[in-house]
Amino acid sequence: MAHSLHLKRLEGKVAIITGAASGIGEAAAKLFVENGAFVVVADIQEELGLKVVASIAGPDVDRAIYKKCDVTVEKQVEETVAFAIEKYGTLDIMYGNAGILGPMDSILDMDMEDGFDRTMAVNLRGPALCIKHAARAMVKRQVRGSIICTASTASVLGGMGPIAYNTSKHGLVGLVRAAASELGKHGIRVNCVSPYFVATPLAISGMSAMGINNASGIEALASSAGNLKGVALKAKHIAEAALFLASDESSVYVSGHNLVVDGGYTVVDNSIT
Ligand code: NAD
Repeated sequence: MAHSLHLKRLEGKVAIITGAASGIGEAAAKLFVENGAFVVVADIQEELGLKVVASIAGPDVDRAIYKKCDVTVEKQVEETVAFAIEKYGTLDIMYGNAGILGPMDSILDMDMEDGFDRTMAVNLRGPALCIKHAARAMVKRQVRGSIICTASTASVLGGMGPIAYNTSKHGLVGLVRAAASELGKHGIRVNCVSPYFVATPLAISGMSAMGINNASGIEALASSAGNLKGVALKAKHIAEAALFLASDESSVYVSGHNLVVDGGYTVVDNSIT
């Protein structure tokens, strides 16, 4: 029974993961490689990206490769897709995970350039470009691929993080639904995964204003919410949800979905729990 857990669920599949030099993307790159995938680690942080590749590929050096990619720049996203195909022969999975929190400002003093526009560029234009260029390659090759994005519990609730971040994640769910509805006829699925707090550099930077500036502080906060109290959400848990969406286990009808992974945070009244 338990041995089924050890089956390689992405055997031979080719994946691009953006924002894979850190946090959730890094955990997904590791898990996808463990499950037999070939992974392009796409990120703006070259040194960290190369470190991730070295740590996950192990002796099978061809399993993962770093590609510098700023998801806001169309040419770089297009080149990253071409790079994956040139290196590994095809593209089955695009995980558009890169995101930023942006400045912790309120709507009353929102910075429209460095806050709003920059956040939309990374969190919404980035995934749009990832979907566009992955889908073009998949349609051309008749690949029944899987495209995944990382939204957030900030995609279903207000009051979560900076206003631009909160808005961008709602928009991302809209983008995923619209893309899923158009790409279904090509056999391409588009879904997103929506985490609650995970102790990554992004979350730690956002919580420092509240005096929480390390991983255990984030985990203590996250595990006191929702209905799974006492359980800390880890990047690995989000990667596992993405793995399900990437794998053939979700291949028949799972598309246009927002898979919220939050220990029930968004379904309980947190004011009375
Ligand atoms: P992280 O900071 O650990 O990783 C984000 C990665 O994205 C970094 O490696 C960074 O270099 C990369 N990146 C940033 N801008 C980029 C760009 N323009 N092009 C390419 N790469 C870029 O943060 P994380 O928590 O792992 O974030 C991953 C995703 O998860 C984000 O979309 C984030 O909004 C989402 N998320 C995180 C949490 C959380 O609590 N950590 C909760 C909900 C959603």
